[in-house]
Amino acid sequence: MENPESKHKIEITDSLEEVIKQAFYCLECGRCTGTCPMVELFPEHFNPRHILENVLINLDKVINEKGIWFCASCYKCNRLCPQGIELPDIFLRLRKIAVKENGLEKLKQAIEIIKEKVPFSASFIEVCFHHERIPLDQTIVDNIFKKIHVKKKTAKQPELKEKIAVIGSGPAGLVVAHDLRQKGYQLTVFESQPFAGGMLRECIPEYRLPTKIIETDINNLKEQGIEFKTNTTIGKDLTFNQLFEDGFEAIFVASGAHQSINLNIEGKNLSGVVSMLKFMGDLKKEKNKKPGNKIVVIGGGNTAMDVASTAVMFGSKEVTLLYRRSREQMPADKNEIREAEDDGVKIIYLAAPKRFLGEKKINKIECYKLQLAEVDYSGRKRPVPIKDSEFIIEADQVIIAIGERPSISFLPEEIEINSDGAIIVDPNTMETSLPGVFAGGDVVHDSATVAEAIVSAKNAVIGIDNYLKSK
Ligand SMILES: Cc1cc2nc3c(=O)[nH]c(=O)nc-3n(C[C@H](O)[C@H](O)[C@H](O)COP(=O)(O)OP(=O)(O)OC[C@H]3O[C@@H](n4cnc5c(N)ncnc54)[C@H](O)[C@@H]3O)c2cc1C
Ligand code: SF4
Ligand code: SF4
Repeated sequence: MENPESKHKIEITDSLEEVIKQAFYCLECGRCTGTCPMVELFPEHFNPRHILENVLINLDKVINEKGIWFCASCYKCNRLCPQGIELPDIFLRLRKIAVKENGLEKLKQAIEIIKEKVPFSASFIEVCFHHERIPLDQTIVDNIFKKIHVKKKTAKQPELKEKIAVIGSGPAGLVVAHDLRQKGYQLTVFESQPFAGGMLRECIPEYRLPTKIIETDINNLKEQGIEFKTNTTIGKDLTFNQLFEDGFEAIFVASGAHQSINLNIEGKNLSGVVSMLKFMGDLKKEKNKKPGNKIVVIGGGNTAMDVASTAVMFGSKEVTLLYRRSREQMPADKNEIREAEDDGVKIIYLAAPKRFLGEKKINKIECYKLQLAEVDYSGRKRPVPIKDSEFIIEADQVIIAIGERPSISFLPEEIEINSDGAIIVDPNTMETSLPGVFAGGDVVHDSATVAEAIVSAKNAVIGIDNYLKSK
């Protein structure tokens, strides 16, 4: 089926009153700024706490500076804000006011700055800057976005002899490959898929990031002398130790979190029960793939919402989402929940599957209702089944979206792993417990965001460069 258009519309007014009201609630604790990956990437240009403070004392400055255009709407700050302030919505209101006052100039300036720092800037902006959060006629936004690909001429660096291997070509791997190549090192990126780009290319739906945009970004990197070896899985086609034997003096592991967590219940192997990664990957790979008519998504995070909305957009007639805790405890951002509900996704809280039913293929799920009991290790009330509360939901496809873990079986045992299965690194240099091996992105901090993957990769660039210089 043809790739659908996103129909999400954010109904937010340009009410200054609302912005000022929210700014009054701010305690100036700085948690938003402290947790924001975009602040880490663009510290000279973006500081959410300062922007909120300036709303009350110097609104003109806020409107006439580019800061408000740097928010990537990840809602990380909102989850930590003691006042529950929704900064991305405030920035959207301020953007609306700014566009009326000074047009597009500040947005264009922000994009120029992002282009300098992010080597796959067109893809990054498509994924993180959500068209609908740029309050302009969408054809104007499209035209601005189209111009992002203009290639920049970079100063010729001296060629260095040291070879560096990057495992994985997602956002983290691409940043390390680009930035170290710029310093003159010889870079090879090993990728198990037939294409480069990681999750951006493999799973993020076409309507959010068209394949041709990420492909153009990758081609630009190839032209800078980075070698991509696709269809090459480290651990299968080449061992980790072979990389050292082949003369690579440093290795950056950026293999992401691609191992889906499964539900260990009856019927888990029935046809039609699939992981979130498989569902999204198949929709992206196979143009004519159609999702089931009656879909049940299991999970409560942003990707569960993404999957549920995507299923509706691709033509599923009934999409139900089961979450085992309450709405207040749901990890997905409020806006993602709102969007899924607007799309017609039915969310059943405090419910979980007991078993999947069907001959060979799933046709029903037996579920039970849950209630919240005492607080568990996560600090949240633990959901426990209610006796005799079983109920049936019909389903011809079930998508498990309860989390992903890094696949680390290919790593040498000297590399230490934490209890969540992620690689332990020195947070400043991103070096692992095995000298010369560095890691970043989702393989280090579990499934996170593109911006966080870039931040960790930027730290690794400094770590690897210093390591090689001091050898
Ligand atoms: C459906 C979906 C929607 C998302 N939406 C957003 C969003 O809107 N905004 C946002 O910021 N983030 C989003 N994310 C998260 C984001 O895509 C990830 O955080 C990011 O891609 C992580 O980058 P990475 O480089 O660490 O790993 P990845 O992008 O996962 O790349 C890792 C690469 O390593 C390769 N690899 C793995 N093992 C090996 C091996 N042994 N040998 C060779 N290659 C290997 C993999 O094939 C893969 O290509 C989304 C994720 C999904 C699944
Ligand atoms: S986290 Fe909330 S209260 Fe604290 S500075 Fe940011 S917006 Fe204000
Ligand atoms: S939503 Fe994300 S990018 Fe925007 S200010 Fe909050 S943490 Fe930063």
